[in-house]
Amino acid sequence: MGDQIQPIRGMNDVLPDSRAAWATVENAAKDIFEAYGYKRIRIPALERTELFSRSIGETTDIVQKEMYTFEDRNGSSITLRPEATAGIVRAGLNNGLFHNKQQKLWCSGPMFRYEKPQKARYRQFHQIDVEAIGFPGPEVDAELITMSAQLWGRLGLESPRLMLNSLGTPEARAVYREALKDYFSEVIDSLDPESLNRLERNPLRILDSKNPDLVDLILNAPELSDYLDDDSKFHFDNLLKMLDSVNIDYEVNSRLVRGLDYYSRTVFEWVTDKLGAQSAVCSGGRYDGLVSQLGGRETPAIGWALGVERVVELLDAEQLTVTEQLPEAYLVAEGEYPRSLLLRVSEELREKLPNACISMDCMGGSLKAQLRRADRSGARFALILGMDELNEGKVSVKALREDTPQVMLNMYDLASMLLGQLEKSP
Ligand code: ATP
Ligand code: MG
Repeated sequence: MGDQIQPIRGMNDVLPDSRAAWATVENAAKDIFEAYGYKRIRIPALERTELFSRSIGETTDIVQKEMYTFEDRNGSSITLRPEATAGIVRAGLNNGLFHNKQQKLWCSGPMFRYEKPQKARYRQFHQIDVEAIGFPGPEVDAELITMSAQLWGRLGLESPRLMLNSLGTPEARAVYREALKDYFSEVIDSLDPESLNRLERNPLRILDSKNPDLVDLILNAPELSDYLDDDSKFHFDNLLKMLDSVNIDYEVNSRLVRGLDYYSRTVFEWVTDKLGAQSAVCSGGRYDGLVSQLGGRETPAIGWALGVERVVELLDAEQLTVTEQLPEAYLVAEGEYPRSLLLRVSEELREKLPNACISMDCMGGSLKAQLRRADRSGARFALILGMDELNEGKVSVKALREDTPQVMLNMYDLASMLLGQLEKSP
């Protein structure tokens, strides 16, 4: 045996043990999206680099240091998608999806960012995201946020808290940006290197700093809410009223600016204190300027994305157990001839019970060894096919989880017995 090849740092295998938790999150999200009339879209994992540099913004963390960018074989620069919004907008523009119509879309898949790997922060991670494109009013902001709240409810998660802010229009923000620049320039000696770098390029991001030494400085900085334009204020107030109307709690946090350039007006983040240093479970906002920035007409839009790994880890942190589907029955065979018929019998049973998990022994060996595997599989019943059973046109049923005598049943009775069991189980 040679040396094993190791995976790339920060890129995880999602092993079968966690499949039930992943499926729970993915299925709940899908069910909610479909119930709200959102349609799935799938986009490529690779895009031209300029799609991201032009949309996410040259001065953002993602574009400056987190992108996986390569030269394609023909020399053009391509990038593994760090997020889905830019790709969805590109796809919509290329295919005329925004031409005089609105779109409610959702998407999911792996994203790639060159970050320092740690708990809940990976280089390949998975997002589920929704985008509503073409809707100017606050109704859609409220709808999208409600959908995320519904998702926590359905999963039983209690820790996520909603932080909300309005960034106003780009014009209002430009004025605020100057005010911030003036403020931080006066205390320039107290800034750390990261904030100094942001001061010139993107002073709003200083508010995002996690450096405890800057807390007081940031607390006393001018507030964005004092610079908001009237329309944005009206939009935001209406959003808050709609959230009130469906009893969604929130905290207005004027320091929430989000790391991407394309946001305007509403921004929000669901945060938790249960994932260590990583607090954001789901984040999003309005990006009214992005569609035109990428070559389309002025088109209002809003979206959010959640990190699947973080939500899965949160299920665990909140001790929400997710039950996995175990086989209902595990079929074993005694003897060569019965074994040759094992697949056929399994298929008959599967046809009768399309929603049950029926597992067939594929290893062979002694009956004892097969029954041991049946037990380890977690199945409720072992079904034994031997010559005696074949002669009678029946299968032996051995309960593996309770103390009931072994019986022989024909296919019809077997199927109705298993069906009865399935209906009883939670
Ligand atoms: P953070 O502040 O944690 O870096 P972010 O603002 O970069 O998050 P977004 O770009 O808004 O995150 O992505 C949306 C969601 O994707 C986040 O709320 C988070 O749950 C998840 N996410 C982002 N980066 C990672 C990562 N490297 N590993 C795992 N999940 C991530
Ligand atoms: Mg980040």
